[in-house]
Amino acid sequence: MKWTPGTLRSKTVWAEGLFTLHVDAPEVLPFTPGQFLQLGLDIAGEEVKRPYSVASPHSEILDFYIVEVEDGKLTPSLNRLQPGDSLKITEKAAGSFTLDHSPPGNQLWLIATGTGLAPYIAMLRTEEPWDRYQQIVVVHGVRYQADLSYVDEMHRYARERTGRFCYVPIVSREDGPESLRGRITHRLEDGSLEERAGVEFNSDCCILMCGNPDMLTDLEAQLLERGIKKHRRKEPGQIVVERYW
Ligand SMILES: Cc1cc2nc3c(=O)[nH]c(=O)nc-3n(C[C@H](O)[C@H](O)[C@H](O)COP(=O)(O)OP(=O)(O)OC[C@H]3O[C@@H](n4cnc5c(N)ncnc54)[C@H](O)[C@@H]3O)c2cc1C
Repeated sequence: MKWTPGTLRSKTVWAEGLFTLHVDAPEVLPFTPGQFLQLGLDIAGEEVKRPYSVASPHSEILDFYIVEVEDGKLTPSLNRLQPGDSLKITEKAAGSFTLDHSPPGNQLWLIATGTGLAPYIAMLRTEEPWDRYQQIVVVHGVRYQADLSYVDEMHRYARERTGRFCYVPIVSREDGPESLRGRITHRLEDGSLEERAGVEFNSDCCILMCGNPDMLTDLEAQLLERGIKKHRRKEPGQIVVERYW
């Protein structure tokens, strides 16, 4: 693993403890949207590093969409970084949570809880998903309305890609004008998720899911019950999963 220098250019704060770091990282090698890099800081004499999906395609400035974990080892320090501060970034990205490792299909479901949205932001900013899939649905599950990030960008895709893009925010603890209420799995169960998306989960879909491990396990089990399968290179299916912890 080789480190390269990074400098915080700016920071977008979405809500308390929920932020995107925009980092000057000119030496990071080209990568595929959906892949992750390690971010590292020296904290009290110890090098602390964690993997983060890059929330932007490859360029000189890279975005990382991060939530501060209470009592976490790295995220409180990442949240304290100020523009001009340094951090370490691995030179070479890793991971196979990418569209080129995903099955083809008519519809692409991009399902996330919390900062699991990050890899999709990188993908949607390139032409690849739009070239490969007829319809794209982004499902973002969060606790509070304020945690819904990248909403303007989602609305822009809906405007620019008329009839091809649907954004479904799902908020567990509050009602909102645009969001469904509850958990992703519950809204799949009662049919309101597919109704809102105007698209069904079926064997002609590619389903990416990323974020909270409980959501991933439960959603996967629900979809398996409907005959939708995990995608493997030797045994093609529909579901591709990225676990954050
Ligand atoms: C491939 C990969 C990509 C990742 N990409 C991202 C990303 O883009 N953004 C991001 O915020 N995190 C991401 N993570 C998680 C990240 O690596 C760290 O685990 C997280 O930031 C916590 O680090 P910490 O040192 O502060 O907490 P630690 O002291 O390491 O505590 C870890 C605990 O924090 C909790 N936790 C970890 N990640 C999250 C999270 N995202 N949301 C809520 N609780 C969490 C879990 O309970 C976990 O057991 C990714 C993880 C993997 C494996």
